[in-house]
Amino acid sequence: MARYRDALCKLCRREGEKLFLKGDRCQTDKCAVERRKYAPGQHGQRRAKISDYAIQLREKQKVKRIYGLLESQFRKYYKEAEQKRGVTGEKLLQFLELRLDNMVYRMGFASNRNQARQMIGHGFFVVNSRKHSIPSSRLKVGDVVELVEDKKKLSFIQENLSRVTHKGILAWIELDSAAFKGKLLHVPKRDEIPLAAKEQLIIELYSK
Ligand code: SF4
Repeated sequence: MARYRDALCKLCRREGEKLFLKGDRCQTDKCAVERRKYAPGQHGQRRAKISDYAIQLREKQKVKRIYGLLESQFRKYYKEAEQKRGVTGEKLLQFLELRLDNMVYRMGFASNRNQARQMIGHGFFVVNSRKHSIPSSRLKVGDVVELVEDKKKLSFIQENLSRVTHKGILAWIELDSAAFKGKLLHVPKRDEIPLAAKEQLIIELYSK
């Protein structure tokens, strides 16, 4: 599967805000955005005038990077969202949220989406009791994601789960952390998706 392989912190610095791509490290003062509050590269500290196009582009790049997608993958979701009834921006975010890698992250098995993707690729999960190793698979309401038996003893997963249990799980997900199981209860509405983004700007950009 194609994926972004460069330094993740550079992506946050480019967007000028924390995208929380590295789990625990993002909460510490080692975070690169905290240490260097300017974009990476030779011209990173230059002040540029920002056009409407640039604002839309940056919003799209930000969301694409948060979910760890490449341009072609992200655009495919937009195309699909555009063809569905309803608000295109909300549909786009719903498709992104229902990806298996995102769900594994939201359920708390992984501390970030990258880790979730790796775990899925290494066969850590079954969905509805069937082995699943494709991070982009889309979950349906009622689907149950479960950690395979021999991975339940891994301490980092237990730590991840205890963190999310402490923080609180999203209303559209049911988590049974003792059984290492999570269930999608319903497709989230926009206000149930914890994402600080203006998806309308992305739609405006793509619909030009
Ligand atoms: Fe982004 Fe996390 Fe790196 Fe900070 S530590 S720059 S939030 S990936």
